[in-house]
Amino acid sequence: MIRFDRATKRYPDGTVAVDELELEAPTGEITVLVGPSGCGKTTSLRMVNRMIEPTSGTIWLDDTDTASMPAHELRRKIGYVIQHAGLFPHRTIVDNVATVPYLLGTGKREARSRAMELLERVGLDPAFAKRYPAQLSGGQQQRVGVARALAADPPVMLMDEPFSAVDPVVRDQLQDEFLRLQGELGKTIVFVTHDIDEAIKLGDRVAVLRVGGTLAQVAPPAELLSR
Ligand code: ADP
Ligand code: ADP
Repeated sequence: MIRFDRATKRYPDGTVAVDELELEAPTGEITVLVGPSGCGKTTSLRMVNRMIEPTSGTIWLDDTDTASMPAHELRRKIGYVIQHAGLFPHRTIVDNVATVPYLLGTGKREARSRAMELLERVGLDPAFAKRYPAQLSGGQQQRVGVARALAADPPVMLMDEPFSAVDPVVRDQLQDEFLRLQGELGKTIVFVTHDIDEAIKLGDRVAVLRVGGTLAQVAPPAELLSR
């Protein structure tokens, strides 16, 4: 479980991006943060893995205050996927995925074989494993980004518009495959999007933010629709 407990971020220029956010992302569920550009979605997400330090308030990972966790421990527990997969350009696809387990101390052979397994799970043809990121389409790169984030087997995944940069047909496929994978893995996911249709499709719970970084409502998608 992730819990935002009056989490606030005021940037040095005075902008209040997130204002006393109270929100829980339950274990094993997809919690979607949705809202217009500038409403504080990315800031909220990055406070969870302390890429951004909250100005005040607490973010809990189960019973632990994330502020008390060393960065390497947070990283191991929290996978992170962004809009443009951010793959290492000079490493092959399989090595992109194997790098994290390798850095965590898994042997090279085992890290690679686990990477191949993960690539298969996210629906990437194994023939692409030896290519470099630039030789893959945007949708394929996003699959690799998801596989890489899963490589350390983190219980929590933060996903920031992971499917927004690909065309609508591929996006739909990626969303379906993501839901299927999540059905098997049951990760605790916080998922950011500006697209309400995507929020409704993917979210177990949807938190709607408004500009100023406050929560407008939080509900299961069916209840949002009925309003
Ligand atoms: P979203 O992800 O919903 O688009 P962000 O979290 O990126 O929103 O931004 C929330 C608000 O904080 C916006 O007004 C944005 O301009 C502002 N902001 C984001 N990053 C910074 C920064 N480094 N310095 C100052 N203001 C920022
Ligand atoms: P390198 O030092 O080789 O550039 P990093 O160790 O910075 O690589 O990042 C390795 C992986 O960890 C990347 O997939 C990146 O997306 C992810 N990552 C980077 N920073 C964080 C963070 N603060 N929290 C979670 N994951 C992160």
